[in-house]
Amino acid sequence: MLIQNVHIENQTALKSIRIENGLITAIESHLEPQQNEKIIDGQQQLALPPFVDPHVHLDSTLTAGQPEWNESGTLFDGIRIWSERKKALTHQDVKDRALKALKMQASHGVQFVRSHVDVTDPELVALKALIEVREEAKDWMTLQLVAFPQEGILSFPNGKALMTKSAQLGVDAIGAIPHFEFNREYAVESLKFAFELAQEYDLLFDAHTDEIDDPNSRSLETVATLALETGMKDKVTASHTTAMGCYNDAYMYKLMRLLKMADLNFTANPLVNLFLGGVLIPIPNAAVSPESRN
Ligand SMILES: [Zn+2]
Repeated sequence: MLIQNVHIENQTALKSIRIENGLITAIESHLEPQQNEKIIDGQQQLALPPFVDPHVHLDSTLTAGQPEWNESGTLFDGIRIWSERKKALTHQDVKDRALKALKMQASHGVQFVRSHVDVTDPELVALKALIEVREEAKDWMTLQLVAFPQEGILSFPNGKALMTKSAQLGVDAIGAIPHFEFNREYAVESLKFAFELAQEYDLLFDAHTDEIDDPNSRSLETVATLALETGMKDKVTASHTTAMGCYNDAYMYKLMRLLKMADLNFTANPLVNLFLGGVLIPIPNAAVSPESRN
């Protein structure tokens, strides 16, 4: 295949790209077509490498408003509503919505997706369906699956066993949700358990970490310490970490040293956290009428 008349990143002159057996074999100013070669006119558009979506939830995709809308706008209300929707999941329901979403992403140039999958489900309906989706889509999409304990590991019945079962079924990464666990002790224990599981099955680690407007939510320090001390380092991702926005400067300064040593990755989630975050924080100096002070 020969793609002609395209711009390559940071270059102004038009180029031709030759693709043979699925691989780019030449990028030149002008390439003459070979016999029977398929030619695509790039129409002076920009040719880019595929995009990466490092954080999506394909099990809950395309379910907005089911069974009700999130009127409060908080993350925790979202989790409550999803918990209701989860009861109606079927294998085909998950596959249909996930494939539809992946095709939408592919049509916008995404070819690498990491999806978290809620495994706080005794039947693991979504995980089993998404493992099939990963296989069915592999020719056009590289999909990673994270065992994500949406309702906690220590705080959900048989949470540890469900995580272990997920690792055995074939996920790519182990997740956690320390800020949703019932207490600080559970949060720390859940992370230690998740790291041990990731090491045992040689998997990546990606935890929703401190996704809450609580300055006392400090699970990131535990994630970073474990990333450092296990040597997993850049196999580790801390997702969202929005509580950092509430930390005091002295603590943040200390934490930064550890984060640098741990060499872990972060996945910000501006699209969602701009809406779900800050909902329960009063706006400083907001106008208050004399009547409403009482
Ligand atoms: Zn998420």
